This record gives sequence, C-alpha cells and structure tokens, in this order.
Amino acid sequence: MKRLLTRAILLGRRASGESNQILTLFTEARGVIVAIARGILRSKKRFAGGLQTFSVYEVTIEERAGSDLAAVGEATLVEANAGAVADLGRLDRATHVLRIVRALLPRNQPEPALFDDLVRTLRAVSMGESGSDDVARFELRALSGAGLEPALDRCAVCGKPVPEGRSARFDPDRGGVVCRTDGGGPMGLSAGALRLLASEGAAGTTDRDSAAARAALDAFLERQTGSSLAK
Ligand SMILES: [Zn+2]
Repeated sequence: MKRLLTRAILLGRRASGESNQILTLFTEARGVIVAIARGILRSKKRFAGGLQTFSVYEVTIEERAGSDLAAVGEATLVEANAGAVADLGRLDRATHVLRIVRALLPRNQPEPALFDDLVRTLRAVSMGESGSDDVARFELRALSGAGLEPALDRCAVCGKPVPEGRSARFDPDRGGVVCRTDGGGPMGLSAGALRLLASEGAAGTTDRDSAAARAALDAFLERQTGSSLAK
C-alpha cells in the first residue's frame, strides 16, 4: 500500500454502508479521484468532523496496487472558507467553480496549478473579494487544464489566424472563433471581448465587451459539459 499526503477539496460524496462515504476529491497530487472514507460518520477525530464543501483539507490517501478505489485515511482542515456560504452570490460562485472542475477534468490527471487556482478562487469568493470576472478566469484556466480551451486567435475550423485588434465570429459548437470563409458563427466578439477571453487584460474594454465574452464563454462551457452549468 502506498500512502501519500496531499491537499484536497471535496467535489461530491455519497453514502456507502452505515458509516462510510465515497468521496470525489480534487487533490493537488492526483487530480480528481474517487476514494472511500471508512468510518467518516463515526470518527470526528480522523475526518475533522466530516468534510465540508468549499474547505481545503490535507488528506492522507492510501492507494493499493490493482484497486481503482483509494481510501482516505484522515483529513485535517487547512482552510475553512466559511464565508463562501455567507450570501447567495458567494454560494453561487463557489458552487459553480466546483461544478466546473467536476464536469471538465478527467479523473487521475494531476493539475497542481489549477488546484492552486481553485484554492485562491474559493478563498477570494469566501472573503467576498471575487466577482464574476474571477470566476470567468478560473473557468478559462479549467478549460485549458482539460485541453478544451476555445480557439480565439485562429479559426477553429481552418486554423487561419485572426488579425490582431479585429472582431470575429464565435461558434460554441465548432470550438471557438470561425472565419468568414468557414461561415462565421452565431455570436459576435469585439476585439475587446476577444482580449478578455484570452486573458490578455481588461484595459480599454467596455461592459459590452465583458457581456459578450461572458455569453460566449457560457455557451462554450455548456457545450463542453453537456449541461447548463453556466448561468
Ligand atoms: Zn476558417
């Protein structure tokens, strides 16, 4: 048996027997994993009183050769992020970023940089210091971590580069910006909206750019996750 210590954030859980739970965790060392927490409903000492959503833990993961299901040995609270449930706006944003991770990331693929991003985003949401722009930035990084980022600087169909500083058409079904030759797309993105989506900074962009970028990202995420996650 191999034992490792890693930071983890709870993405989901279901009951298993009288006192066990099967946890879906986003871990720093292993990415998204499914692990059994035996006795989690009985042992306050080993599991910090049961794992809470939005909190960051340090957990011991026990892996057995030949078994898909790891076990969580114990969990220690690192950061509670209790403010994430302080009002509906925060709760919405915090819930949304966790759903994004769960929907986009494959299992057992380590994404330590994205894990750090998630820790920072949850902290900012919990402290009331994060708005929808921070959530959008996280979404883009999660898409990129999953290898699903939209094409923004070239046509998603033929690869032709988008001239710098120009507007473009966006087609969420075809993976990003689509050139005129390939039929364009249903959504228009100004140069400013494209800069926002490419995380090249918000200098000189307007509320309209930001709304267009948000709408394009929502539509794209909806296609990628196969559900209406985005809102
Ligand atoms: Zn094209």
